[in-house]
Amino acid sequence: MQYIVALTGGIGSGKNTVANAFAAFGIPLVDADVIAREIVEPDSPVLHAIKQRFGSAVLTASGLLDRAALRARIFSCPEEKSWLNGLLHPFIQRKTEQELRSARGPYVLWMAPLLIENNLQQHANRVLVVDVDREVQIVRTLRRDGVSRELVENILTTQVSRQRRLACADDVIDNSGCPEKLTERIAILHQRYLAFSAAGS
Ligand code: ADP
Repeated sequence: MQYIVALTGGIGSGKNTVANAFAAFGIPLVDADVIAREIVEPDSPVLHAIKQRFGSAVLTASGLLDRAALRARIFSCPEEKSWLNGLLHPFIQRKTEQELRSARGPYVLWMAPLLIENNLQQHANRVLVVDVDREVQIVRTLRRDGVSRELVENILTTQVSRQRRLACADDVIDNSGCPEKLTERIAILHQRYLAFSAAGS
């Protein structure tokens, strides 16, 4: 059985930065965002079902999923939203399980931004939360994405509170400091996970 460390955190907290540092130690990554994109690739059964339900208005001219159009379509329609979630969930779950099972390494890092929101903690041996305060999240996301503050604040309202996320954590990375601090902390956690996975705990 693979030893699974789930990595989560709010938008702009530093999940990708942290994941890259674990990858530099040779740790395999399974990324929920990548899986969510892969299951709606052209000609996939999921994209086909979405097209049947919502029409070609949710596709781009080249036949790719137009995520913004789909988001707008389900925004104020809970029924459509739950239909979509019901469609996506089993495909995401199956692919995630496959990838976690086939990952090769002493442990696997499962990047799951919405781990707590989707109540998936029980699928991991260990929950690692990247934590910064709300203002740092906003400032770093604005700098990275060049989007409006309002958009980032809206996304934040769809995510669990900092307190709730921290309450689910086995380990926490405080990413409010400089990147060098982050590297030190990740090296310590890496050693800890090597020991846990070797002990099968
Ligand atoms: P997430 O994946 O959680 O959305 P990222 O890892 O993309 O967050 O980090 C958000 C932005 O903040 C990126 O531009 C990243 O380079 C930057 N960043 C991450 N950690 C730090 C840090 N400790 N100090 C300064 N900038 C950081």
